[in-house]
Amino acid sequence: MENENKLEKIVSWAKRRGFIWPSSEIYGGIGGFYDFGPYGVELKNNIKNLWWKTFVQDREDVVGLESSVIMSNKVWQASGHEKGFIDQLVECKKCHQRFKVDDLTDEKCQQGGKHEFTSPKSFNAMFKTHIGVVEDQSTKTYLRPETAQGMFVDFKQILETSRLKLPFGIAQIGKSFRNEINTKDFLFRVREFEIAEIEYFVKSGQDEKYFDQWLADWQKFILNLGIKKENLKLFEHPKKSLAHYSKRTVDINYNFPFGWKELAGVANRTDFDLSSHEKASGRDLKYFDQDSKEKYWPYVIEPTLGIERLALAVICEAFEETKSRTTTSQAASENEIVLHFTNLLAPVKVAVFPLVNKEKLPQVAQEIYQALKPCWNIFYDETGSIGRRYRRQDEIGTPYCVTVDFQTLKDKTVTLRDRDSMKQGRIKITDIKGDIAQKLGC
Ligand code: ATP
Repeated sequence: MENENKLEKIVSWAKRRGFIWPSSEIYGGIGGFYDFGPYGVELKNNIKNLWWKTFVQDREDVVGLESSVIMSNKVWQASGHEKGFIDQLVECKKCHQRFKVDDLTDEKCQQGGKHEFTSPKSFNAMFKTHIGVVEDQSTKTYLRPETAQGMFVDFKQILETSRLKLPFGIAQIGKSFRNEINTKDFLFRVREFEIAEIEYFVKSGQDEKYFDQWLADWQKFILNLGIKKENLKLFEHPKKSLAHYSKRTVDINYNFPFGWKELAGVANRTDFDLSSHEKASGRDLKYFDQDSKEKYWPYVIEPTLGIERLALAVICEAFEETKSRTTTSQAASENEIVLHFTNLLAPVKVAVFPLVNKEKLPQVAQEIYQALKPCWNIFYDETGSIGRRYRRQDEIGTPYCVTVDFQTLKDKTVTLRDRDSMKQGRIKITDIKGDIAQKLGC
């Protein structure tokens, strides 16, 4: 499949199948904001839940946090964002399109020929807002552009209430907002998105070792979502492109249909944030080391990733358009779309169908559906040809379908169909739950 074409196909599939579409669409949409529909929100939640389980619940050295989206403006002054969260913007004098300098490509001007750019202007990418009714300097603040600052300003509170010892991490998944100059490539560059990140506090001197460990753990997690190794590549930031707080940053780039782009990253933020907040707030944000009896600001390793970019990578990886896989003559002429999501990420785990809407078939299928529903997200459908029903489930990536047919009434067995191999086998009704649990690994 042509790569450029692939993104277009994904955008149209995502809307048609109830995954993702532009926000406020009935009013023409607004650039860089998307809504996640019934299947999209399931997919996103599955990614977030797996992340939380892997990095918070399964580990003893990481705790969770949910800090507020709007924080005191003093946070953004101390962190350097008010002065430094700057993009360089240029405008084409002919077509008046605006671009981020970092993103410039040699694309043609809509008015013909090359763009003619103005000299770059600085633009703060944080969304401004005011707290309360009076709109002046004293009430001004911003929607957070990252979740990290919550972990730094709550560092002492967490340390005092959790009895953690270095090294330890604070994890958060949360909405972040960036007033991007140009939004493009579907979910890749949006203005409202969720970041999942960890601030991992270590003693300085051990930072480089933990950086390498987190880079490995981060890649392992991404691969575990069904992303192929050959589609990931590391990019080491040269010193001159490092953010103001960073000693080292490595991006994990993904081979998107529109090129290799940043999916996630790991940064060594040193003691920049804790020391800045201590200086600005006057509060002691140092760690007391019981063993060495020293007080110091720990260094911070920050693995970070955007949930929307990850969801897009997962979709790109799972999306397949093939010549008809089914044998029904009606469907044979059409291309089919199959989403090969991993079992853990699939929005619907099992679909249950009566072969036809006759005799006791729907009743038995309903009983199976009701028995499985408390355990997983299950779908029931009794309308349309069975081939079409299988295709609909393939298109949303449902790994298993259970079909109740006339033989079920004789021997209490059903057909279990596998999405990827399309193999169908018979299984006893009483064995379905255990078999599915084993297949899903839960
Ligand atoms: P970029 O260089 O692409 O603008 P960044 O280096 O500014 O990204 P970070 O500040 O490291 O990004 O943000 C953490 C993560 O948040 C990124 O790895 C990415 O997955 C995600 N992210 C950042 N900006 C956006 C955006 N506008 N839309 C969607 N996801 C984003």
